[in-house]
Amino acid sequence: MRLEAALDLIAEVPDFPEPGVLFRDLSPLFADGAGFAAVTDGLAATLAPEAELVAGVEARGFLLAAAVGYLRGLGVVLVRKPGKLPAVAGRVDYALEYGTASVELPAGVVRAGQRIAVLDDVLATGGTAVAAGKLLEDAGATVTGVSVVLELAALGGRAALGGRSVHALRSV
Ligand code: AMP
Repeated sequence: MRLEAALDLIAEVPDFPEPGVLFRDLSPLFADGAGFAAVTDGLAATLAPEAELVAGVEARGFLLAAAVGYLRGLGVVLVRKPGKLPAVAGRVDYALEYGTASVELPAGVVRAGQRIAVLDDVLATGGTAVAAGKLLEDAGATVTGVSVVLELAALGGRAALGGRSVHALRSV
């Protein structure tokens, strides 16, 4: 399947999880074997050649990181929501429009100096990707770039990520 056709499988759900938000649901894309393969290939092509590990942001980023990691022969790091990990190497709290969120890194996984690519499904305000990058850098890693399936450009995630290399398979 061509990448554009695969990306067309992403559903738009108005007013979820709250009024005014147009939620981009990748479930139909993940459920289509050819579509999932096309997106996996597309994301894998965005990885910097020097990337040694792929970090996936919970939860949809896990699927993408696992598939891309397998394809490229790279290991996967889980960037998790709080309370899931038995041993935590680090935690970064960040602001949402209302309230805060946090991401945690498992202990004993990332070595200082490792070069890591960050993967997620959607880049919106960039808060999550910024936090994931800080988490990995606090552990001594180098972030090679951030790759997402879909960028919601009006929400400014690319600017929030500053000088980082940002790759989106589609930007709307
Ligand atoms: P942000 O931190 O604002 O860039 O939001 C990115 C995270 O929230 C990603 O993990 C996305 O899965 C999720 N997200 C934010 N906005 C949307 C949206 N409109 N549709 C689907 N997922 C979203």
